[in-house]
Amino acid sequence: AKQLGRNQYRLFDEELDRKFIRRMELERDLSRAVAEGELFVMYQPKWDAQTDRISGAEALMRWQHPVLGLISPGEFIPIAEETGLIVPMTRWMLKDVCLKRQAWQEQGIAPFRVSVNMSIRVFERGMLQEMVNEALSVSGLSPELLELEITETIAMHDLPDKAKQLQSLRKLGVTVSMDDFGTGYSSLGNLDELPIDVLKIDQSFVRQSAVHSKQAIISTIIAIAGHLNLEVVAEGVETSEQIEFLLSRGCAIMQGYYYGKPMEAAAMEKWIDDMAH
Ligand code: C2E
Ligand code: CA
Ligand code: CA
Ligand code: CA
Repeated sequence: AKQLGRNQYRLFDEELDRKFIRRMELERDLSRAVAEGELFVMYQPKWDAQTDRISGAEALMRWQHPVLGLISPGEFIPIAEETGLIVPMTRWMLKDVCLKRQAWQEQGIAPFRVSVNMSIRVFERGMLQEMVNEALSVSGLSPELLELEITETIAMHDLPDKAKQLQSLRKLGVTVSMDDFGTGYSSLGNLDELPIDVLKIDQSFVRQSAVHSKQAIISTIIAIAGHLNLEVVAEGVETSEQIEFLLSRGCAIMQGYYYGKPMEAAAMEKWIDDMAH
């Protein structure tokens, strides 16, 4: 038993070493990823199940590592946030997304908003306003077609400052949505102090929408959105039962694998075309 125990420890050490080495490698390589053109964007549609029309698309970052292959954002975004690389990465992303959305506009595609995830790090040093302005002016995109997805972590420190930054972007016409609502820090307490337009119901609730207690949470979020005059979007929608339930409670906008997985821009164009016919 002692022997086995020691072997298990060794295995555990090796596992830790491997994770540590991978993490160091990713950290080192991520700083070159933007310049080397290794980052790209996938789009996932948001569908209005009431009007049967596309309502929006979320832009999601991907990293094609030259040796390690496709790295998931669940792995590289935390590294980007810890190292501060998320700031130049988001700057690149905003520009790329606005340029693509403007190209779609010129092709005469439906006028849906495209959303970009905003890490809290981007709010530091007043970078957000500058980055959004730059992306809008480079692309010529109308601010009404851009949406920013934030999370409740922005309420953790100096909320008034963040609120001010968001408010000035909203005055421009940019939409702000609260992502993963109900899972983070201080969901309800600060909600009325945050300048937002949309609540996104977290996929953990939607996934379990057959469970009575989760149904109560979903209904409550939809009611709050109604009272505060916010749009509500359900995320992680995978089944027709979930769609039935969400529609019955008054949530019509759906994002999830049921309708479409994140896809590259060209596939998104085809998806929109297919859905229209
Ligand atoms: P998120 O913002 O909550 O994005 C939704 C995630 O759920 C995406 O994962 C999407 O692919 C996945 N998803 C959507 N529908 C379904 C479904 O029906 N079933 C399941 N199982 N999953 C679904 P993804 O693309 O891997 O992104 C993970 C997270 O990484 C994002 O969560 C976001 O927090 C972060 N992230 C991705 N791109 C960016 C970015 O450009 N900037 C920042 N700051 N964070 C990003
Ligand atoms: Ca999001
Ligand atoms: Ca989310
Ligand atoms: Ca999430």
